[in-house]
Amino acid sequence: MPLDIVSSVCPHDCPSACALAVERVGGRRIGRVRGAAAQTYTRGVVCAKVARYGERQHHPDRLSQPLRRVGEKGVGRDAFRPISWDEALDEVAERLTCAAQRHGLESVWPYYYAGTMGLVQRDGINRLRHAMRYSREDLTICNALSDAGWLAGVGVKRGVDGREIAKSDLIVVWGGNPAATQVNVMTHVAAARRERGAGLVVIDPYRTATAEQADLHLAPLPGTDGALACAVMHVLFKEGCADRVYMARYTDDPAGLEAHLATRDPAWAARITGLAEDEIVGFARLFGRTRRSYIRVGYGFSRSRNGAAQLFAVSCLPAVTGAWAYEGGGALYSNLGLVELDRTLIEGLDRLDPTTRILDQSRIGAVLTGDRRALGNGPPVSALLIQNTNPLVVAPESGLVRGGFARSDLFVCVHEQFMTETAAMADIVLPATTFLEHDDIYLGGAHSYLQLGRAVVPPHGECRSNHDVICGLARRLGADHPGFAMTALELIDRTLRISGLPDVEHYPEDGRLDCCPPFATGHFLDGFAHADEKFHFRADWPAIGPAFARLPAFPDHVGVIDDGDPERPFRLVAAPSRSFLNTTFNNTPSSLAREGRPTALVHPEALGRLGLDDGDRVRIGNRRGSLVLHAQSFAGMQKRVVIVEGLWPNHAFEEGIGINLLTSADPGLPRGGAVFHDTSVWLRPA
Ligand code: SF4
Repeated sequence: MPLDIVSSVCPHDCPSACALAVERVGGRRIGRVRGAAAQTYTRGVVCAKVARYGERQHHPDRLSQPLRRVGEKGVGRDAFRPISWDEALDEVAERLTCAAQRHGLESVWPYYYAGTMGLVQRDGINRLRHAMRYSREDLTICNALSDAGWLAGVGVKRGVDGREIAKSDLIVVWGGNPAATQVNVMTHVAAARRERGAGLVVIDPYRTATAEQADLHLAPLPGTDGALACAVMHVLFKEGCADRVYMARYTDDPAGLEAHLATRDPAWAARITGLAEDEIVGFARLFGRTRRSYIRVGYGFSRSRNGAAQLFAVSCLPAVTGAWAYEGGGALYSNLGLVELDRTLIEGLDRLDPTTRILDQSRIGAVLTGDRRALGNGPPVSALLIQNTNPLVVAPESGLVRGGFARSDLFVCVHEQFMTETAAMADIVLPATTFLEHDDIYLGGAHSYLQLGRAVVPPHGECRSNHDVICGLARRLGADHPGFAMTALELIDRTLRISGLPDVEHYPEDGRLDCCPPFATGHFLDGFAHADEKFHFRADWPAIGPAFARLPAFPDHVGVIDDGDPERPFRLVAAPSRSFLNTTFNNTPSSLAREGRPTALVHPEALGRLGLDDGDRVRIGNRRGSLVLHAQSFAGMQKRVVIVEGLWPNHAFEEGIGINLLTSADPGLPRGGAVFHDTSVWLRPA
């Protein structure tokens, strides 16, 4: 078979957005996937799960035909019969129309997330939504809290180029586990260590694979990182490590911050975080004495009710030391705001009616079960069109989500690559292309490239792209927008042009446009993105979200977390695993083999008190329900912490429902956001 190497872009929900070099075999199949060596962030490295993408691309369970459910909900493939694309799209259009006629247009809820990060195939569903005035979706499940926290201080969603990690003398990985989930960070950390002798500090509630590699690991209790950051700043001020000249020029209220932090000393933070005072002081001195210190801000510690406040507090650190001013210094949370793309055409923003209601995607359980507040006092949701997500597993309060999908009066269409748990509850299932089978354009959260990914193999079976399905429905529904008459590539081309970027014809041949700003802009030396051009130590929370009243202006510990009680003494963190990415890859043989089985990491002392041994079954629960896992004795965290990694398929659990049965859909402050790592639980022998 002839083999060639073709360029592509990893579409998955991961900041690295790796540039790929894909082995194509005989024009139809793929072999090994490697990182593109010439892309200077990827540098030839990809994670193991995508290196073996062939397992997913050519998985025997991939959907290949449109399906209509003829059996019970939730059974899976056996409950469906194949139908033609015309039959399927006609039926979906008819059912959406019926729902709208019965309860109004807002009773239709197009629902999506980041199963692909490609802008056309991910966000095109919004064009249909806006053209039809269906209910809008508040995208809260991942970055609402972290965005709010970062924007409070910096004012724009970008930071110092990830490639500068290699120029740092101290890298702080805070609230992330890149060795498992974003491997490219470690490439640049390794370069800094090798070439500069840089130090690595990891701050995470448990000893992750990244923490294993660190010179220093601090393991605060979940939801207390804001207190740690405040105490570090207290020490920086007290011990002369605060750069007062930098702060006078680039920040809004350094004197106010210093006065506010006077009582936030290491003893105060030690009581909240569970860390020792000397751990906090030691880290503060290390950070304060290193000019080129770089904080790689992860998403983990923001997945709490106080997550925005926590991330805001951490983002203040380089503004106190002035590290932003140095090459290899500063911080990066996400660069997704770096390139200003005009998304009007892709998302149909010119058809957006701001009076249509917005429903919180994280509260899909409450929405579907008729919670009036979650519904905005509007009509029930009676039809769902779902692309790029698997809410039966990934959304919090799984019990409620399952109850909602079980409604007999709810019509559901799912466009998917596999018969996921959500697809199994649908009336119509449509087979979807993978990123190797369609065209798209990708921003990167960790770097500055805008990358074009073209189809490199033909679609599997009868699979169609998200864009094609949206256009096919739009025609049937009478939705009016020029974007529905374009191909994905034409949409990309027009979007590039109206954004003032090189169009497809003039795009770099390798599909990678590096939009890295000049040093002064990248380091905010020409101003932060607030009207006064300062970094804000005094957050304007009311400008960010309506639930601001419980958030203090200055960085602080905000005690709104689910901190447990005698009935629920343990703090559960539902962390990502190395081999799954949300629910993507949780059905590929090598990922399943590596992850083993659903497991709870429990401190050995806690395990002993329960009378359990390593490997025993343990029941974990709270008022939302309980489930059984196998316990693994693990000392790399505080005794109250329990870690469950990975979004396993529901069928991997004894009672058929996964870890999000226990997590809450309470909105974080100040504008919502899922609080996956803010859950108190009890443990019992199973
Ligand atoms: S590290 Fe992230 S972006 Fe890179 S290949 Fe893996 S999942 Fe994709």
